[in-house]
Amino acid sequence: MKVGILAAQGDFEAHAATLARMGVEHGFVRAPRDLDGVDAIILPGGESTTQWKFLVDEGLEAGLREFGERGGPIFGTCAGAILLARDVRNPQQQSLGLADISVIRNGYGRQLASEVRHGLTTISPEPIEMVFIRAPIIERVGRDVQVLANSDGNPVLIQEGRILIATFHPELTSDNTVHEYFLRVARSGAAKERVPYDSVPQPAVSAGPVEPR
Ligand code: GLN
Repeated sequence: MKVGILAAQGDFEAHAATLARMGVEHGFVRAPRDLDGVDAIILPGGESTTQWKFLVDEGLEAGLREFGERGGPIFGTCAGAILLARDVRNPQQQSLGLADISVIRNGYGRQLASEVRHGLTTISPEPIEMVFIRAPIIERVGRDVQVLANSDGNPVLIQEGRILIATFHPELTSDNTVHEYFLRVARSGAAKERVPYDSVPQPAVSAGPVEPR
């Protein structure tokens, strides 16, 4: 399993450090040829407008969209969530549209921009540390989207098939839980075809709203 990490801008080094700690092979993606031989992709946090411009300028937009459309596993954190969303507002901007969610950029406002919370998810019996940095709010989830964690009344960790999205930054903590879950999802089928929803690992606990702690 080789994971490609988009390295346009943002905290791609932190994702690389997490994967290194887990002993997972990885490489940086800066050009379409870097997608060759990659089994899963991470879109890191950072500044989504800058990242989107990079994807378009470097001709990576089509390759990433194609990878996602044929069922390739993709994990987006924060700005990566924005790149994956179907609709983006505040302000409106283009995106890959691979996940049926709508997001509001900087949804928590500028003053309450950054905060660390601990919250329950359906992927682990223990609460996990959730670092929010000028995070988007997921204001709508489509029918096939599974909510794996809520915080403050909004979904913060969601899954749609082999796409995983966190509006927080698990790569900035020492807890590998979310990355481990993504790798389980990524290993759950061949990257060539869209994987039926049922064959993707499903969380053990029911995905009801989770009270923030
Ligand atoms: N506010 C950023 C954006 O809109 C995302 C912040 C982050 O990735 N930590 O692109």
